[in-house]
Amino acid sequence: MIFKKEHLLLQKAVRKFAEEEVQPYAAEREKEGAISRDLMEKLAKYKYTSPIVPKEYGGAGADYTSYVIIMEEISKKCASTGTFTTAAASLVSSPLLNFGTEEQKQKYLTRITSGEAIGAFGLTEPGAGSDASGQTTNAVLVGDNYVLNGRKTFITNAPIADFAIVIAVTERGKGVKGTSAFIVDMNLEGVSCGAHEDKMGIRATETSDLIMENVKVPKENILGKEGQGFKIAMHTLDTGRIGVAAQALGVAQGAMDEAVKYSKERVQFGKSLSKFQDIQFKLANMETKICAVRALLYKTAEMKEAGMSITKESAMCKYMAAEVANEVAYDALQIHGGYGFIKDYPIERIYRDARIMSIYEGTSQVQQMVIAGSLLK
Ligand SMILES: Cc1cc2nc3c(=O)[nH]c(=O)nc-3n(C[C@H](O)[C@H](O)[C@H](O)COP(=O)(O)OP(=O)(O)OC[C@H]3O[C@@H](n4cnc5c(N)ncnc54)[C@H](O)[C@@H]3O)c2cc1C
Repeated sequence: MIFKKEHLLLQKAVRKFAEEEVQPYAAEREKEGAISRDLMEKLAKYKYTSPIVPKEYGGAGADYTSYVIIMEEISKKCASTGTFTTAAASLVSSPLLNFGTEEQKQKYLTRITSGEAIGAFGLTEPGAGSDASGQTTNAVLVGDNYVLNGRKTFITNAPIADFAIVIAVTERGKGVKGTSAFIVDMNLEGVSCGAHEDKMGIRATETSDLIMENVKVPKENILGKEGQGFKIAMHTLDTGRIGVAAQALGVAQGAMDEAVKYSKERVQFGKSLSKFQDIQFKLANMETKICAVRALLYKTAEMKEAGMSITKESAMCKYMAAEVANEVAYDALQIHGGYGFIKDYPIERIYRDARIMSIYEGTSQVQQMVIAGSLLK
C-alpha cells in the first residue's frame, strides 16, 4: 500500500507517541500487571482508542487504515497496550456504534471515546469458547428489568471496567437466535469479578471472569433487539479481527526490529551475527512474511472502508498475522541465543506476548473454519 499524506502524518505521530509514552515503560507495566491511568487517558485524548468512531460521538472519525496504523505502531512497542486499545476501539465501541440507540451512544460510547469510562466485552464462557453458540448465561425479563445470571470467562478489562457488553440467552431452544446483548453497569448489585488471571503474556492487561448473580439490568439496556445477540457478537468480532491482526503485525515488526539490531551488535567467530548467511536468510524470511501480512491487512482495511464484505479477508488477516507473529518472535529469540531467554532483552516479553495472538478473538483454527466456510459455500 502507498499511504496518503494524512496516513503518513498519523504514522509519524503514533510512532513518536509509542516511542516516548509506551516503549520506555512496557517492561515496568508488565511487572505491575496494569496499564497506568495516565496512559489510558492519553490514548483516549489522542483518539487512538476511538479511531473509527464518528466525531459526533467524540471519536476521530478516521478510516480503517488509520486504525490499522495506530494498532501496528502501538503494538510494536507493547502488545498489552495494543490489547487495551483494540478492546476499546473495536470490542466495545463497535457494538454500541452499530446497534446502540442514540441514548445508549450518548451515555456509553461518548464516555469510552473521552476516556471517562472503560468497557469490556463478554462473550466467552467456561463451556463456550470456540463454540460461542453454547451460551448458558441467562436473561429473563421481570417487570422493567432483565435479570441476568451466569459467568463469563477471560474477559479483558473486566476488573477495571465501568460497564460490559454481555451476551445472554433470552429464549431457550432457539439456539443463537435466542441470544441478546446487554449493557451491564459493573457497579450493579450482583456483578463481581473473579481473580485476575496470571497470564503468560500481555501481562499489563487485566483479565478475569465476570460473574452475574441475579443482576437487574434495566430493560432499556438491551443492545439491539431480542434475538440479535449472536449477530451483534459476530459483527463485532469481524471488525475486532482487523485490530488484532494489526496488533499481531506490530508484535512481529517489534520482534524483527530487535532481531536486526541484535544481529548487528553480537560478534561471534570474529564477525557480527548479521554477516552469517543463515542469519541473513532467517531475517529475509521474517521480513517477507511480515510484508505479506501488511499488504493483506491494509488491503482489507481499504475494502472495509469501501463497504465491502470482509468476513473471509479479516479472518485471513487475523490467521496469518497471528501465525507470522509467533514464527517471527521464535526466530528473533533464536537469533538472540541465550540472551533472548533472559528478561533483560525485550524479545523475551515479545515472544510471550505473541502467543495469545493465535488464540483470542477466535483461534487460528476458528479463522480457518471461517475462511474455508466462505470458500466452500
Ligand atoms: C488473555 C485473554 C483475553 C481474552 N479476552 C476476551 C474478551 O475480552 N472477551 C471474550 O468474550 N473472550 C475473551 N477471551 C476468550 C478467547 O476468545 C477464547 O479463549 C478463545 O476464543 C478460545 O476459546 P477456548 O479458550 O474456550 O478454547 P476452546 O474452544 O476450548 O479450544 C481449544 C482448542 O481446540 C481447538 N478447537 C475448538 N474447536 C475446534 C474445531 N471445531 N475444529 C478444530 N479445532 C477446534 C481450538 O482452536 C483450540 O486450539 C480471551 C482469552 C484470553 C486468554
